[in-house]
Amino acid sequence: MFRLRSGPAIVAFVCASFGVLTAQSGPHELRAREIFKQLVEINTTEANGSTTRAAEAMAERFRAAGFPAADIHVFGPSPRKGNLVVRYRGTGARRPLLLLAHLDVVEARREDWSFDPFTLTEKDGYLYGRGTADDKTMAAAFVANLLRLKSEGYMPARDLILALTADEEGGTENGVKWLLANHRDLIDAEFAINEGGGGVMRKGRYVTNEVQAAEKVYQDFRLEVRNSGGHSSLPEKDNAIYRLSAGLSRLAAFEFPVQLNDITRAYFSRSAPAQAEAQTRSDMLAVAKQPPDLEAAARLSTNSPYFNSLLRTTCVATRLEGGHALNALPQLAAANVNCRIFPGVSPIEVMAVLTKVVSDAEIRISPVGEATPSKPATLRDDLMNAVETIVKSMFPGVPVVPVMSTGATDGLYLRNAGIPTYGADGLFDDIDDVRAHGRDERVGIKQFNEDLEFHYRLITALSK
Ligand SMILES: [Zn+2]
Repeated sequence: MFRLRSGPAIVAFVCASFGVLTAQSGPHELRAREIFKQLVEINTTEANGSTTRAAEAMAERFRAAGFPAADIHVFGPSPRKGNLVVRYRGTGARRPLLLLAHLDVVEARREDWSFDPFTLTEKDGYLYGRGTADDKTMAAAFVANLLRLKSEGYMPARDLILALTADEEGGTENGVKWLLANHRDLIDAEFAINEGGGGVMRKGRYVTNEVQAAEKVYQDFRLEVRNSGGHSSLPEKDNAIYRLSAGLSRLAAFEFPVQLNDITRAYFSRSAPAQAEAQTRSDMLAVAKQPPDLEAAARLSTNSPYFNSLLRTTCVATRLEGGHALNALPQLAAANVNCRIFPGVSPIEVMAVLTKVVSDAEIRISPVGEATPSKPATLRDDLMNAVETIVKSMFPGVPVVPVMSTGATDGLYLRNAGIPTYGADGLFDDIDDVRAHGRDERVGIKQFNEDLEFHYRLITALSK
């Protein structure tokens, strides 16, 4: 997954920041680039890749750097779905910090791309390749920084645990779930850093740095009407397609009530100043108040699908099926309704609402699969302060903003298991040109180097 958000009407009042790094790459950048190249060039797709090969390649680097074999594990439920867990031992004064990144990538076909997606290609200040934006920059930054810290003789006040995992993108053998079920002791931590946050850039300008602490919950429902059918020359008033359509029309007109939590309240209040329009700025501040200004919420929801999704549970019809012949009355009409549930609301409550809204006992509603609930993490002062300090020195003037993802990452499994997980990242990418999961995925070389430095500072700040 990747950050699912868009920045409607966000204008950078912040000038492009070039931080502390020069265009010259130093030894740390060069080593990180080598690691990155190796990761990108190992195909880790579901179809014919192997996260085990990538995990092994990284394990080899840790062994070579002198990490004890007992602290390096490559394992998983099947030969192609390996995960890497490495422990960097600290003094033990505090509980461990978990650094999570996924190794697997979305499929990429050579014919769709301008370059070979599995060859790291440098062009015009960018590095192209599948996984560059999601999530191999983060994986490379974690690996390179742990190796750097080791070479510097750094002794953290807590163990640093690195987990590079399989099947975040939708395979059936999710690495985080598997690790929690089988090796919880090896990844148990006070909290975790994961993908899902990071820098928002627009037209080369740095707008915000987001810290993700909550995710909406994914749940599909099937709505189904069955009729006895018959010859279409003899229509009856009771028609499965009409019934379903009428129910869906009632759903289309319905909106779930406005909801906020600490994360979204902080998101609206902190990112308000970065908005281009005065009305949006004041609406964001008004909606962040307790109780929220509902008129402001309505304006924000109308103007932006993203704000709307942050402010409530959403359910939308995504697929339809029905009928079996051009000249027969339909025996079946069915729709899939995809819900993105506000954290803390149960799928059963949502189903009850759908039933009431659709308001027709002939429309049977059932959940498709079982939702994985996702508890928001509480914003931690140590993490927020560290990110703010780092962002202030590397990207002066860029606000740090807590966010709730409208999509989902593996962070939800950790949060549900009691390991608060935060998307925190120093990688800035262009909000209007998101290529993760798409063609010609890329990362800016300058941004790659900045991300490396960001994580170096973050890891040390959180483990001093
Ligand atoms: Zn991802």
